[in-house]
Amino acid sequence: MEQHLQHPIFKALAGIADTHHIEAYIIGGYVRDIFLNRPSKDIDIVVLGNGIEFAELAGKHLKSKVAVFKNFGTAMLKYQDLEIEFVGARKESYRSDSRKPIVENGTIEDDQLRRDFTINALAISLNKANYGQLVDPFNGIIDLNNKLIRTPLEPELTFSDDPLRMMRAIRFASQLNFSIDEQALNAIKKQKERISILSKERITDELNKIIMSDVPSIGFKYLFDTGLLQLIFPQMAGLYGVDIINGKGHKDNFYHTLQVLDNICETTKDLWLRWAAILHDIAKPATKRFEEGHGWTFHGHEDKGARMVPKIFAQLKLPLNEKMKFVQKLVQLHLRPIVLAQEVVTDSAVRRLLFDAGEDIESLMLLCNADVTTKNEYKVKKYRNNFELVKQKLKDVEERDKIRNWQPPISGNDIMEIFGLSAGKEVGLLKNAIREAILEGEITNTYDNALQFMLEKAKEFGLQPIKR
Ligand code: ATP
Repeated sequence: MEQHLQHPIFKALAGIADTHHIEAYIIGGYVRDIFLNRPSKDIDIVVLGNGIEFAELAGKHLKSKVAVFKNFGTAMLKYQDLEIEFVGARKESYRSDSRKPIVENGTIEDDQLRRDFTINALAISLNKANYGQLVDPFNGIIDLNNKLIRTPLEPELTFSDDPLRMMRAIRFASQLNFSIDEQALNAIKKQKERISILSKERITDELNKIIMSDVPSIGFKYLFDTGLLQLIFPQMAGLYGVDIINGKGHKDNFYHTLQVLDNICETTKDLWLRWAAILHDIAKPATKRFEEGHGWTFHGHEDKGARMVPKIFAQLKLPLNEKMKFVQKLVQLHLRPIVLAQEVVTDSAVRRLLFDAGEDIESLMLLCNADVTTKNEYKVKKYRNNFELVKQKLKDVEERDKIRNWQPPISGNDIMEIFGLSAGKEVGLLKNAIREAILEGEITNTYDNALQFMLEKAKEFGLQPIKR
Protein backbone atom coordinates (compact mmCIF):
# COMPACT_ATOMS: atom_id res chain seq x y z
CA MET A 1 0.00 0.00 0.00
CA GLU A 2 2.86 2.35 0.94
CA GLN A 3 4.21 2.27 -2.57
CA HIS A 4 0.79 3.11 -4.12
CA LEU A 5 0.39 6.07 -1.81
CA GLN A 6 3.74 7.49 -2.94
CA HIS A 7 2.19 8.20 -6.35
CA PRO A 8 2.33 11.98 -7.02
CA ILE A 9 -1.39 12.01 -7.79
CA PHE A 10 -2.26 11.11 -4.21
CA LYS A 11 0.23 13.61 -2.82
CA ALA A 12 -1.36 16.29 -5.01
CA LEU A 13 -4.91 15.40 -3.95
CA ALA A 14 -3.83 15.33 -0.30
CA GLY A 15 -2.33 18.81 -0.67
CA ILE A 16 -5.57 20.19 -2.09
CA ALA A 17 -7.62 18.48 0.62
CA ASP A 18 -5.52 20.04 3.37
CA THR A 19 -5.31 23.52 1.86
CA HIS A 20 -9.10 23.65 1.55
CA HIS A 21 -9.85 21.75 4.75
CA ILE A 22 -11.79 19.01 2.98
CA GLU A 23 -11.83 15.37 4.10
CA ALA A 24 -10.91 13.15 1.13
CA TYR A 25 -10.58 9.39 0.68
CA ILE A 26 -9.65 6.87 -1.99
CA ILE A 27 -12.50 4.39 -2.02
CA GLY A 28 -13.89 1.24 -3.64
CA GLY A 29 -12.37 -1.01 -6.28
CA TYR A 30 -8.99 0.74 -6.38
CA VAL A 31 -8.41 0.13 -2.65
CA ARG A 32 -9.62 -3.47 -2.93
CA ASP A 33 -7.26 -4.06 -5.84
CA ILE A 34 -4.25 -2.69 -3.93
CA PHE A 35 -4.73 -5.49 -1.40
CA LEU A 36 -5.33 -8.06 -4.12
CA ASN A 37 -2.28 -6.96 -6.08
CA ARG A 38 -4.38 -6.30 -9.17
CA PRO A 39 -3.05 -3.16 -10.80
CA SER A 40 -5.88 -0.74 -11.62
CA LYS A 41 -6.09 2.57 -13.48
CA ASP A 42 -9.52 3.65 -12.21
CA ILE A 43 -9.44 5.65 -8.99
CA ASP A 44 -12.54 6.75 -7.07
CA ILE A 45 -12.18 9.68 -4.69
CA VAL A 46 -14.89 10.57 -2.21
CA VAL A 47 -14.88 13.86 -0.32
CA LEU A 48 -17.05 15.18 2.47
CA GLY A 49 -18.78 17.98 0.64
CA ASN A 50 -18.93 18.83 -3.02
CA GLY A 51 -17.16 16.32 -5.28
CA ILE A 52 -17.41 18.46 -8.41
CA GLU A 53 -15.79 21.49 -6.73
CA PHE A 54 -12.97 19.30 -5.44
CA ALA A 55 -12.45 17.88 -8.93
CA GLU A 56 -12.22 21.39 -10.36
CA LEU A 57 -9.58 22.35 -7.79
CA ALA A 58 -7.68 19.18 -8.68
CA GLY A 59 -8.04 19.91 -12.41
CA LYS A 60 -6.55 23.38 -11.96
CA HIS A 61 -3.66 22.06 -9.90
CA LEU A 62 -2.88 19.19 -12.29
CA LYS A 63 -3.61 21.24 -15.43
CA SER A 64 -6.11 18.58 -16.55
CA LYS A 65 -9.52 19.04 -18.13
CA VAL A 66 -12.41 18.03 -15.90
CA ALA A 67 -15.56 16.34 -17.22
CA VAL A 68 -18.53 17.21 -15.03
CA PHE A 69 -21.64 15.03 -14.77
CA LYS A 70 -23.96 17.43 -12.98
CA ASN A 71 -26.92 15.05 -12.84
CA PHE A 72 -24.85 12.47 -11.01
CA GLY A 73 -22.94 14.96 -8.87
CA THR A 74 -19.69 13.48 -10.15
CA ALA A 75 -16.68 14.69 -12.11
CA MET A 76 -13.82 12.93 -13.80
CA LEU A 77 -10.33 13.84 -14.89
CA LYS A 78 -7.52 12.00 -16.60
CA TYR A 79 -4.01 12.23 -15.29
CA GLN A 80 -1.31 10.31 -17.16
CA ASP A 81 -2.83 6.85 -17.67
CA LEU A 82 -5.18 7.19 -14.68
CA GLU A 83 -8.89 7.94 -14.69
CA ILE A 84 -9.98 9.64 -11.50
CA GLU A 85 -13.60 10.06 -10.51
CA PHE A 86 -14.76 12.42 -7.76
CA VAL A 87 -17.96 12.32 -5.78
CA GLY A 88 -19.27 13.82 -2.55
CA ALA A 89 -19.98 11.36 0.28
CA ARG A 90 -23.64 10.45 0.13
CA LYS A 91 -26.41 8.64 1.86
CA GLU A 92 -28.83 6.69 -0.28
CA SER A 93 -32.35 5.39 0.09
CA TYR A 94 -34.34 3.42 -2.44
CA ARG A 95 -37.87 3.08 -3.77
CA SER A 96 -39.06 -0.30 -5.00
CA ASP A 97 -39.60 0.56 -8.66
CA SER A 98 -36.17 1.83 -9.57
CA ARG A 99 -32.45 1.30 -9.20
CA LYS A 100 -32.12 5.07 -8.77
CA PRO A 101 -31.79 6.02 -5.13
CA ILE A 102 -32.80 9.21 -3.37
CA VAL A 103 -29.49 10.83 -2.51
CA GLU A 104 -28.49 13.22 0.25
CA ASN A 105 -25.14 14.35 1.65
CA GLY A 106 -23.63 11.97 4.17
CA THR A 107 -20.63 10.98 6.23
CA ILE A 108 -17.82 8.72 5.03
CA GLU A 109 -19.50 5.83 6.84
CA ASP A 110 -22.84 6.57 5.10
CA ASP A 111 -20.96 6.45 1.84
CA GLN A 112 -19.31 3.14 2.69
CA LEU A 113 -22.67 1.74 3.73
CA ARG A 114 -24.14 2.40 0.29
CA ARG A 115 -21.41 0.32 -1.35
CA ASP A 116 -22.36 -3.13 -2.60
CA PHE A 117 -19.82 -5.39 -0.84
CA THR A 118 -17.56 -5.07 2.15
CA ILE A 119 -14.50 -5.58 -0.08
CA ASN A 120 -15.70 -2.63 -2.20
CA ALA A 121 -16.33 -0.39 0.79
CA LEU A 122 -12.71 0.06 1.90
CA ALA A 123 -11.42 3.62 2.07
CA ILE A 124 -7.99 5.17 2.57
CA SER A 125 -7.66 8.64 4.05
CA LEU A 126 -5.81 11.29 2.07
CA ASN A 127 -5.65 13.95 4.79
CA LYS A 128 -2.36 14.85 6.43
CA ALA A 129 -3.49 13.99 9.95
CA ASN A 130 -4.08 10.34 9.05
CA TYR A 131 -2.62 9.97 5.53
CA GLY A 132 -2.80 6.36 4.35
CA GLN A 133 -5.03 5.18 7.17
CA LEU A 134 -7.44 2.41 6.20
CA VAL A 135 -11.11 3.01 7.06
CA ASP A 136 -12.78 -0.40 7.19
CA PRO A 137 -15.96 -0.33 9.28
CA PHE A 138 -17.39 -3.60 7.86
CA ASN A 139 -14.33 -5.88 8.10
CA GLY A 140 -13.66 -5.80 4.39
CA ILE A 141 -10.04 -6.84 4.94
CA ILE A 142 -11.10 -9.96 6.83
CA ASP A 143 -13.46 -10.80 3.93
CA LEU A 144 -10.65 -10.22 1.44
CA ASN A 145 -8.49 -12.66 3.36
CA ASN A 146 -11.32 -15.19 3.58
CA LYS A 147 -12.12 -14.64 -0.11
CA LEU A 148 -15.70 -13.80 0.71
CA ILE A 149 -18.32 -11.60 -0.97
CA ARG A 150 -20.48 -10.09 1.78
CA THR A 151 -22.78 -7.07 1.87
CA PRO A 152 -22.37 -4.25 4.45
CA LEU A 153 -26.15 -3.96 4.85
CA GLU A 154 -28.79 -6.66 5.27
CA PRO A 155 -28.33 -8.66 2.05
CA GLU A 156 -31.97 -8.99 0.97
CA LEU A 157 -32.41 -5.25 1.16
CA THR A 158 -29.11 -4.68 -0.66
CA PHE A 159 -30.16 -6.87 -3.58
CA SER A 160 -33.73 -5.70 -3.67
CA ASP A 161 -32.62 -2.03 -3.68
CA ASP A 162 -30.35 -2.58 -6.65
CA PRO A 163 -30.61 -6.02 -8.29
CA LEU A 164 -27.54 -5.32 -10.43
CA ARG A 165 -25.63 -6.18 -7.26
CA MET A 166 -26.72 -9.82 -7.67
CA MET A 167 -24.91 -9.95 -10.99
CA ARG A 168 -21.99 -8.02 -9.54
CA ALA A 169 -21.67 -10.44 -6.59
CA ILE A 170 -21.45 -13.37 -8.96
CA ARG A 171 -19.15 -11.50 -11.32
CA PHE A 172 -16.69 -10.64 -8.51
CA ALA A 173 -16.84 -14.23 -7.22
CA SER A 174 -15.92 -15.43 -10.70
CA GLN A 175 -13.23 -12.80 -11.38
CA LEU A 176 -11.56 -13.12 -7.98
CA ASN A 177 -12.28 -16.80 -7.30
CA PHE A 178 -14.19 -15.82 -4.13
CA SER A 179 -17.19 -17.44 -2.46
CA ILE A 180 -20.45 -15.66 -1.86
CA ASP A 181 -21.36 -15.55 1.82
CA GLU A 182 -24.22 -17.93 2.61
CA GLN A 183 -26.67 -15.26 3.73
CA ALA A 184 -25.98 -13.20 0.67
CA LEU A 185 -26.44 -16.28 -1.52
CA ASN A 186 -29.81 -17.06 0.06
CA ALA A 187 -30.79 -13.43 -0.40
CA ILE A 188 -30.01 -13.62 -4.12
CA LYS A 189 -32.15 -16.77 -4.39
CA LYS A 190 -35.03 -14.91 -2.75
CA GLN A 191 -34.65 -11.68 -4.69
CA LYS A 192 -33.81 -13.17 -8.09
CA GLU A 193 -37.06 -12.01 -9.74
CA ARG A 194 -35.95 -8.41 -9.12
CA ILE A 195 -33.49 -8.90 -11.97
CA SER A 196 -36.41 -8.01 -14.24
CA ILE A 197 -36.03 -4.27 -13.53
CA LEU A 198 -32.54 -4.24 -15.10
CA SER A 199 -31.93 -3.55 -18.76
CA LYS A 200 -30.74 -6.51 -20.84
CA GLU A 201 -27.62 -4.56 -21.75
CA ARG A 202 -26.55 -4.22 -18.11
CA ILE A 203 -27.13 -7.90 -17.42
CA THR A 204 -25.17 -8.92 -20.50
CA ASP A 205 -22.37 -6.53 -19.60
CA GLU A 206 -21.91 -8.41 -16.31
CA LEU A 207 -22.38 -11.78 -18.04
CA ASN A 208 -19.56 -10.91 -20.44
CA LYS A 209 -17.33 -9.99 -17.48
CA ILE A 210 -18.08 -13.40 -15.97
CA ILE A 211 -17.22 -15.02 -19.30
CA MET A 212 -13.95 -13.07 -19.43
CA SER A 213 -12.85 -14.28 -15.99
CA ASP A 214 -10.16 -16.98 -15.80
CA VAL A 215 -12.54 -19.72 -14.64
CA PRO A 216 -16.04 -18.65 -15.75
CA SER A 217 -17.66 -21.87 -14.52
CA ILE A 218 -17.46 -20.39 -11.00
CA GLY A 219 -19.82 -17.60 -12.05
CA PHE A 220 -22.11 -19.81 -14.13
CA LYS A 221 -22.55 -22.31 -11.31
CA TYR A 222 -23.62 -19.45 -9.04
CA LEU A 223 -25.95 -18.12 -11.74
CA PHE A 224 -27.53 -21.54 -12.06
CA ASP A 225 -27.70 -22.35 -8.33
CA THR A 226 -29.35 -19.02 -7.52
CA GLY A 227 -31.89 -19.43 -10.34
CA LEU A 228 -30.70 -16.29 -12.15
CA LEU A 229 -29.47 -18.18 -15.21
CA GLN A 230 -32.94 -19.66 -15.71
CA LEU A 231 -34.29 -16.09 -15.88
CA ILE A 232 -31.65 -14.35 -17.95
CA PHE A 233 -30.48 -17.15 -20.27
CA PRO A 234 -32.94 -20.07 -20.09
CA GLN A 235 -31.46 -21.88 -23.11
CA MET A 236 -28.22 -22.40 -21.23
CA ALA A 237 -29.97 -23.48 -18.03
CA GLY A 238 -31.88 -25.96 -20.23
CA LEU A 239 -28.65 -27.87 -20.85
CA TYR A 240 -28.76 -29.06 -17.24
CA GLY A 241 -29.81 -32.57 -16.33
CA VAL A 242 -29.50 -36.20 -17.32
CA ASP A 243 -32.28 -38.45 -18.67
CA ILE A 244 -32.03 -42.18 -18.14
CA ILE A 245 -33.86 -44.75 -20.29
CA ASN A 246 -33.18 -48.49 -20.05
CA GLY A 247 -30.40 -47.70 -17.61
CA LYS A 248 -28.62 -45.52 -20.15
CA GLY A 249 -27.90 -41.88 -19.36
CA HIS A 250 -26.19 -39.18 -21.39
CA LYS A 251 -23.70 -36.69 -20.03
CA ASP A 252 -25.00 -33.54 -18.34
CA ASN A 253 -24.61 -30.96 -21.06
CA PHE A 254 -24.58 -28.01 -18.66
CA TYR A 255 -21.50 -29.22 -16.81
CA HIS A 256 -19.95 -30.43 -20.04
CA THR A 257 -20.40 -26.95 -21.54
CA LEU A 258 -18.84 -25.34 -18.47
CA GLN A 259 -15.87 -27.66 -18.76
CA VAL A 260 -15.45 -26.77 -22.44
CA LEU A 261 -15.69 -23.08 -21.54
CA ASP A 262 -13.07 -23.35 -18.79
CA ASN A 263 -10.86 -25.34 -21.16
CA ILE A 264 -11.03 -22.78 -23.94
CA CYS A 265 -10.32 -19.96 -21.48
CA GLU A 266 -6.89 -21.47 -20.97
CA THR A 267 -6.11 -20.84 -24.62
CA THR A 268 -7.94 -17.64 -25.61
CA LYS A 269 -9.05 -14.25 -24.36
CA ASP A 270 -11.40 -13.82 -27.30
CA LEU A 271 -14.88 -13.18 -25.88
CA TRP A 272 -16.55 -14.52 -29.02
CA LEU A 273 -14.63 -17.77 -29.09
CA ARG A 274 -15.68 -18.16 -25.45
CA TRP A 275 -19.28 -17.54 -26.52
CA ALA A 276 -18.89 -20.25 -29.18
CA ALA A 277 -17.88 -22.65 -26.40
CA ILE A 278 -20.99 -21.69 -24.41
CA LEU A 279 -23.26 -22.21 -27.39
CA HIS A 280 -21.67 -25.18 -29.14
CA ASP A 281 -24.14 -27.74 -27.72
CA ILE A 282 -27.03 -25.34 -27.07
CA ALA A 283 -29.43 -27.36 -29.26
CA LYS A 284 -28.74 -30.67 -27.56
CA PRO A 285 -31.89 -30.56 -25.41
CA ALA A 286 -34.01 -29.77 -28.48
CA THR A 287 -32.52 -32.57 -30.62
CA LYS A 288 -32.24 -35.24 -27.94
CA ARG A 289 -33.69 -38.67 -28.88
CA PHE A 290 -33.42 -42.11 -27.40
CA GLU A 291 -32.99 -44.64 -30.18
CA GLU A 292 -33.64 -48.29 -29.33
CA GLY A 293 -30.51 -50.36 -29.55
CA HIS A 294 -28.39 -47.28 -30.02
CA GLY A 295 -28.82 -45.00 -27.03
CA TRP A 296 -28.98 -41.20 -26.85
CA THR A 297 -28.45 -39.17 -29.99
CA PHE A 298 -28.40 -35.44 -30.72
CA HIS A 299 -28.60 -35.54 -34.51
CA GLY A 300 -28.38 -32.16 -36.17
CA HIS A 301 -27.68 -30.25 -32.96
CA GLU A 302 -24.94 -28.31 -34.73
CA ASP A 303 -27.34 -27.08 -37.45
CA LYS A 304 -30.13 -26.29 -35.06
CA GLY A 305 -27.65 -24.70 -32.64
CA ALA A 306 -26.32 -22.44 -35.39
CA ARG A 307 -29.90 -21.41 -36.21
CA MET A 308 -30.51 -20.58 -32.54
CA VAL A 309 -27.51 -18.23 -32.31
CA PRO A 310 -29.12 -15.10 -33.85
CA LYS A 311 -32.15 -15.39 -31.58
CA ILE A 312 -30.00 -15.79 -28.47
CA PHE A 313 -27.79 -12.87 -29.50
CA ALA A 314 -30.86 -10.69 -30.05
CA GLN A 315 -32.39 -11.76 -26.75
CA LEU A 316 -29.18 -10.93 -24.85
CA LYS A 317 -28.59 -7.72 -26.84
CA LEU A 318 -25.28 -9.03 -28.10
CA PRO A 319 -24.18 -7.51 -31.41
CA LEU A 320 -25.89 -8.90 -34.52
CA ASN A 321 -22.82 -8.41 -36.67
CA GLU A 322 -19.80 -10.38 -37.85
CA LYS A 323 -19.11 -11.48 -34.25
CA MET A 324 -22.46 -13.25 -34.23
CA LYS A 325 -21.66 -14.79 -37.64
CA PHE A 326 -18.34 -16.05 -36.27
CA VAL A 327 -20.03 -17.72 -33.30
CA GLN A 328 -22.69 -19.18 -35.58
CA LYS A 329 -20.07 -20.60 -37.92
CA LEU A 330 -18.16 -22.24 -35.08
CA VAL A 331 -21.32 -23.79 -33.63
CA GLN A 332 -22.18 -25.07 -37.10
CA LEU A 333 -18.74 -26.60 -37.71
CA HIS A 334 -17.81 -27.77 -34.20
CA LEU A 335 -18.18 -31.49 -34.95
CA ARG A 336 -16.22 -31.48 -38.16
CA PRO A 337 -12.65 -31.79 -36.86
CA ILE A 338 -13.81 -34.42 -34.36
CA VAL A 339 -15.36 -36.48 -37.12
CA LEU A 340 -12.17 -36.06 -39.10
CA ALA A 341 -10.09 -37.11 -36.13
CA GLN A 342 -12.07 -40.33 -35.81
CA GLU A 343 -11.69 -41.37 -39.42
CA VAL A 344 -8.91 -41.86 -41.87
CA VAL A 345 -8.05 -38.28 -42.73
CA THR A 346 -8.38 -37.79 -46.48
CA ASP A 347 -7.05 -34.75 -48.32
CA SER A 348 -10.46 -33.92 -49.69
CA ALA A 349 -12.10 -33.90 -46.24
CA VAL A 350 -9.35 -31.59 -45.00
CA ARG A 351 -9.77 -29.31 -48.04
CA ARG A 352 -13.51 -29.12 -47.37
CA LEU A 353 -12.96 -28.22 -43.74
CA LEU A 354 -10.46 -25.53 -44.70
CA PHE A 355 -12.86 -24.15 -47.29
CA ASP A 356 -15.80 -24.03 -44.87
CA ALA A 357 -13.85 -22.65 -41.88
CA GLY A 358 -11.70 -20.23 -43.88
CA GLU A 359 -9.73 -17.87 -41.67
CA ASP A 360 -11.47 -19.23 -38.55
CA ILE A 361 -9.85 -22.64 -38.77
CA GLU A 362 -7.50 -22.04 -35.80
CA SER A 363 -10.40 -20.92 -33.60
CA LEU A 364 -12.37 -23.99 -34.66
CA MET A 365 -9.47 -26.29 -33.76
CA LEU A 366 -9.19 -24.61 -30.33
CA LEU A 367 -12.90 -25.17 -29.75
CA CYS A 368 -12.65 -28.82 -30.73
CA ASN A 369 -9.68 -29.41 -28.48
CA ALA A 370 -11.58 -27.82 -25.61
CA ASP A 371 -14.58 -30.03 -26.41
CA VAL A 372 -12.67 -33.18 -25.42
CA THR A 373 -13.86 -33.55 -21.83
CA THR A 374 -13.98 -37.31 -21.43
CA LYS A 375 -12.36 -38.64 -18.27
CA ASN A 376 -11.20 -41.69 -20.19
CA GLU A 377 -7.45 -41.16 -20.54
CA TYR A 378 -7.19 -43.53 -23.46
CA LYS A 379 -9.85 -41.67 -25.44
CA VAL A 380 -8.31 -38.27 -24.63
CA LYS A 381 -4.96 -39.44 -25.91
CA LYS A 382 -6.47 -40.90 -29.04
CA TYR A 383 -8.44 -37.72 -29.86
CA ARG A 384 -5.52 -35.44 -29.14
CA ASN A 385 -3.19 -37.54 -31.30
CA ASN A 386 -5.68 -37.52 -34.13
CA PHE A 387 -6.14 -33.78 -33.76
CA GLU A 388 -2.41 -33.38 -34.20
CA LEU A 389 -2.70 -35.44 -37.36
CA VAL A 390 -5.60 -33.29 -38.59
CA LYS A 391 -3.59 -30.14 -37.79
CA GLN A 392 -0.58 -31.43 -39.72
CA LYS A 393 -2.81 -32.34 -42.67
CA LEU A 394 -4.45 -28.93 -42.52
CA LYS A 395 -1.02 -27.36 -42.73
CA ASP A 396 0.12 -29.57 -45.62
CA VAL A 397 -3.06 -29.10 -47.64
CA GLU A 398 -3.07 -25.35 -46.98
CA GLU A 399 0.52 -25.00 -48.11
CA ARG A 400 -0.15 -27.00 -51.24
CA ASP A 401 -3.63 -25.85 -52.23
CA LYS A 402 -4.07 -22.46 -50.50
CA ILE A 403 -7.71 -23.22 -49.76
CA ARG A 404 -8.12 -20.80 -46.87
CA ASN A 405 -9.85 -17.58 -48.03
CA TRP A 406 -9.94 -19.28 -51.36
CA GLN A 407 -12.10 -18.32 -54.31
CA PRO A 408 -12.37 -20.78 -57.20
CA PRO A 409 -10.11 -19.69 -60.09
CA ILE A 410 -13.09 -19.05 -62.40
CA SER A 411 -15.67 -16.57 -61.17
CA GLY A 412 -19.35 -16.28 -62.01
CA ASN A 413 -18.51 -13.28 -64.20
CA ASP A 414 -15.92 -15.28 -66.11
CA ILE A 415 -18.52 -17.99 -66.74
CA MET A 416 -21.09 -15.48 -68.03
CA GLU A 417 -18.54 -13.93 -70.36
CA ILE A 418 -17.21 -17.22 -71.71
CA PHE A 419 -20.66 -18.61 -72.54
CA GLY A 420 -22.46 -15.32 -73.19
CA LEU A 421 -24.88 -16.05 -70.36
CA SER A 422 -26.75 -13.69 -68.10
CA ALA A 423 -26.94 -14.48 -64.39
CA GLY A 424 -28.95 -17.65 -63.88
CA LYS A 425 -29.08 -21.26 -62.86
CA GLU A 426 -26.40 -22.55 -65.23
CA VAL A 427 -23.82 -20.12 -63.90
CA GLY A 428 -24.39 -21.38 -60.36
CA LEU A 429 -24.27 -25.02 -61.43
CA LEU A 430 -21.00 -24.59 -63.28
CA LYS A 431 -19.43 -22.61 -60.43
CA ASN A 432 -20.44 -25.31 -57.97
CA ALA A 433 -19.13 -28.08 -60.17
CA ILE A 434 -15.71 -26.40 -60.41
CA ARG A 435 -15.53 -25.83 -56.67
CA GLU A 436 -16.54 -29.41 -55.91
CA ALA A 437 -14.01 -30.85 -58.36
CA ILE A 438 -11.21 -28.85 -56.75
CA LEU A 439 -12.26 -29.67 -53.19
CA GLU A 440 -12.58 -33.36 -54.08
CA GLY A 441 -9.12 -33.26 -55.64
CA GLU A 442 -10.34 -34.28 -59.11
CA ILE A 443 -8.56 -31.28 -60.60
CA THR A 444 -5.88 -28.98 -59.23
CA ASN A 445 -6.57 -25.44 -58.15
CA THR A 446 -5.44 -23.66 -61.36
CA TYR A 447 -7.22 -21.59 -63.98
CA ASP A 448 -6.26 -23.83 -66.91
CA ASN A 449 -7.44 -27.03 -65.27
CA ALA A 450 -10.64 -25.41 -64.08
CA LEU A 451 -11.34 -24.04 -67.57
CA GLN A 452 -10.78 -27.43 -69.18
CA PHE A 453 -13.03 -29.10 -66.65
CA MET A 454 -15.72 -26.45 -67.07
CA LEU A 455 -15.79 -26.71 -70.87
CA GLU A 456 -16.33 -30.48 -70.57
CA LYS A 457 -19.01 -30.00 -67.96
CA ALA A 458 -20.76 -27.30 -70.01
CA LYS A 459 -21.30 -29.77 -72.81
CA GLU A 460 -23.62 -31.71 -70.48
CA PHE A 461 -25.81 -28.61 -70.32
CA GLY A 462 -25.55 -28.07 -74.07
CA LEU A 463 -23.51 -24.90 -73.62
CA GLN A 464 -20.88 -23.67 -76.08
CA PRO A 465 -18.28 -21.01 -75.36
CA ILE A 466 -18.61 -17.84 -77.41
CA LYS A 467 -14.95 -16.98 -77.03
CA ARG A 468 -11.79 -18.72 -75.88
P1 ATP B 1 -14.31 -3.15 -11.70
O1 ATP B 1 -13.53 -1.93 -12.13
O2 ATP B 1 -13.59 -4.42 -11.78
O3 ATP B 1 -15.68 -3.21 -12.30
P2 ATP B 1 -15.00 -1.73 -9.32
O4 ATP B 1 -15.28 -2.20 -7.94
O5 ATP B 1 -14.05 -0.61 -9.47
O6 ATP B 1 -14.54 -2.98 -10.13
P3 ATP B 1 -17.04 -0.04 -10.44
O7 ATP B 1 -18.26 -0.49 -11.15
O8 ATP B 1 -16.08 0.85 -11.12
O9 ATP B 1 -16.38 -1.39 -9.96
O10 ATP B 1 -17.51 0.64 -9.09
C1 ATP B 1 -16.68 1.40 -8.26
C2 ATP B 1 -17.16 1.28 -6.82
O11 ATP B 1 -18.49 1.80 -6.71
C3 ATP B 1 -17.28 -0.15 -6.33
O12 ATP B 1 -16.07 -0.61 -5.80
C4 ATP B 1 -18.36 -0.03 -5.26
O13 ATP B 1 -17.83 0.48 -4.07
C5 ATP B 1 -19.28 1.01 -5.84
N1 ATP B 1 -20.38 0.43 -6.63
C6 ATP B 1 -20.43 0.24 -7.97
N2 ATP B 1 -21.61 -0.25 -8.35
C7 ATP B 1 -22.35 -0.37 -7.24
C8 ATP B 1 -23.68 -0.80 -6.97
N3 ATP B 1 -24.47 -1.24 -7.96
N4 ATP B 1 -24.11 -0.74 -5.71
C9 ATP B 1 -23.33 -0.29 -4.72
N5 ATP B 1 -22.08 0.11 -4.90
C10 ATP B 1 -21.57 0.09 -6.14
